[in-house]
This record gives sequence, structure tokens and C-alpha cells, in this order.
Amino acid sequence: MSQATQHPPTEVRTGTAGQVFTSILTTGPVCRRDVANATGLSQASVTKLVKPMLSAGYIEEIAPITAGPGRPQIPLQVIPERQFSIGVKVMATEVIGVVIDLGGNQCAAVRQPVDGTDPDEVVGTVTALVAHLRERVPQARERTCGIGVGIGGHVDNATGVVRFSPSLRWPSVPLAGRLTAATGLPVTVENDVNSLALSEQWFGAGRGVDSFAVVTVGAGIGCGLVIDGDLWTGVSGAAGEFGHIRVAADGARCDCGRVGCVQAVANDEAIARAAEHAVGQPISSAAEAYRLATAGSEPLKEVFREAGRALGRGLAVLVNLMNPALVILSGEGVHSSPIWTDAVREQLTADAFSSIAMDCELLVRPLPDEAWAAGAAVGMLRRSVLGSLGRLGT
Ligand SMILES: [Zn+2]
Repeated sequence: MSQATQHPPTEVRTGTAGQVFTSILTTGPVCRRDVANATGLSQASVTKLVKPMLSAGYIEEIAPITAGPGRPQIPLQVIPERQFSIGVKVMATEVIGVVIDLGGNQCAAVRQPVDGTDPDEVVGTVTALVAHLRERVPQARERTCGIGVGIGGHVDNATGVVRFSPSLRWPSVPLAGRLTAATGLPVTVENDVNSLALSEQWFGAGRGVDSFAVVTVGAGIGCGLVIDGDLWTGVSGAAGEFGHIRVAADGARCDCGRVGCVQAVANDEAIARAAEHAVGQPISSAAEAYRLATAGSEPLKEVFREAGRALGRGLAVLVNLMNPALVILSGEGVHSSPIWTDAVREQLTADAFSSIAMDCELLVRPLPDEAWAAGAAVGMLRRSVLGSLGRLGT
């Protein structure tokens, strides 16, 4: 296979422009020389690549700064109001929608309970939510690039089809096509944790980090992988099924039908069940168990240590395969208490190969529910802006 066939020229140019744009977005205001250093491109290439971004209004030059000898440097920064995006997180009981701009600022947020998970009902709810959000942010109306939707489960982003969502009980739903027909806007659908990873890359703890993972803990345990600056989704969108790494020989059955998965041992339901067993009385939720553990219950502390160790075993597999610089732990089931975090870290360090665990920062980062919807919006924003830069011939 020739070099040209392996790397179509358009893709290379789009990728290079995307790198430059991402560098300006995540580190701006920043001068061309520093963008060149960060991306490994020549200053002449950076100058050539930013020209169409400037004329298309994605970025702007600000007042020159003089530091040391040589010509004054002109910093570049993204223009937030150039583009807006709507993000929607769909869950079995609730839909959350936000509008964000190109600076990652949240302009509006709405939460809407849902009665059922029938696809027709969900499409109707999301369509009404989008209309409401567009009214709330009139300045975004003409500059909204589309709708990003985040859903837990196996999502084929290329076709916009939700192949399998355990919480919604959807077998195969062409959600992007149906929402585009209903709203008249471009729609991208992505696994919710993948969306969160993209959001962390552009606006969160993953800024400037080439390779990192986001692992979320809650009702399910999910994972999004960013490798060499791009989301790694695999052949059909199912990459990063971290929750189904097997870490125990037996135990409760997982949603997927197997036993011993990280998710079956360390998710909220597993913790609540183990807590009830440990204290011999009803425990309504993992959150209640956590309150009792941090108040001093020794048997419940051990429940959280065991869940932390199971997660740590899974994380060791992840870092052994990927060797990331950063793993972000988030989701409603992350706990800031050292009872849980120490167990996660100790097991990860014990099980990971060589110094891989030492080379990887483990960041516990609780985020609000709206962050998931914002992540979906970033997925749409990213596709629109990087696609547009490609069409501009940069
Ligand atoms: Zn499983």
C-alpha cells in the first residue's frame, strides 16, 4: 500500500489544521511560535494554517506582546460566539440539554423528566427541549452547528445508530436520522462517556494531554479513550468497554450476562447490595452506604475498599494496554474519601506493569450532570469546526 493510500491528503491536512486549532483553543491566547512548538510544525506552516481560521472568524489576533528580543508576538485566541452547539444527554428517567459556545461556556441548561423510553417519546422530548433551548439563547440561533446526543451503551457514531443501550432497552435505533428529520438540524450521536472525554480534551482536565482515559463510575461503569489527540472508538464504536473487564472469578451477574465484570462488582447497585449484606439491614443506595462509611461504619468502609480494589484491578488492565498520561475518574459514583481512592490507587499500582502506574496521573474529578450534556455538545462542535476547517482547505 502506498503512502498516499494509507494517509489520504485531505485527512492529513484536516488533522494538522485540527491540531493547530485545538492548540489555540486549549492554550490560547497563544502566539504562533508557541503553537509551532506544541504541535511540532514549523512556524511558517502554523502561519499558513491559521490564515483561513482567521478569515472564517474562528480565531482572532489580540494586542501584540513584547517579550525579549525580536519582533513582538501576536497572540491568537478562539472567538467563543463564532459557533454554538446544543448537547443532550438521554437517560431512562431524564433528558438534560445545554447550549455551549466555542469557548466551552454554558449559555443555558434544561432538565426534563421523561415518562418512558420508547424511541418515539424520546425523540419528541428531545425535539421540544431543543426548541426551548433555542428560544433561551436567541444569539445562538443562526450560529448553532447542530445537536450532539450522548447515550450510555454501544453507539455507532459514524451512522448515528444506537446499537444497544442497556438502560433504555433499545436494540437498534437510528437516532441521528430521526432527530435530524424532527429538528432540521445536523445531529451526531455518541456514547456518553466518549462525549465526556472529548469535552475534557477541549475544555477540561485533558487539555494539552495527548493520551488519556475518562472512566465513569455510577449506575454503569464506562470509559472514553483519547489516543494521540483523537477519540478511539474502534471498528463499530464499542471501544473502551472497561466496565466489562473481568476482575473477579464469581459474584453477581452483570448486565451483559457474565459474572465478575468491574461493573458487577464496583457500580452503585453492587455497592448497595454488598453494604446490605455487610451490615444485615436495608441500605437504599450506594450514596447512603457512603454516608454511613464516612461516619465510621467499619464493615461499610470495607465494602468501599473492596469496590475500589476491583476498580483498581480494571484500571491496571487499562493502563497496561494504553500507557496513558492521565486517567480521569468521574461520574456520580466517584467518592472523594480516601477509603475508596486509596484502595483504587493501591490496587492499580500493585497490578500495573513496571512504572506505568507511576507515569499516569489518577485524577478524581466529580462533575455536575450537565457536564455530560455539554460533552455531547462538544462532540457536535468538534465535528462541525474540524470539518469546516477541512473544507476551507487548511
Ligand atoms: Zn459485564
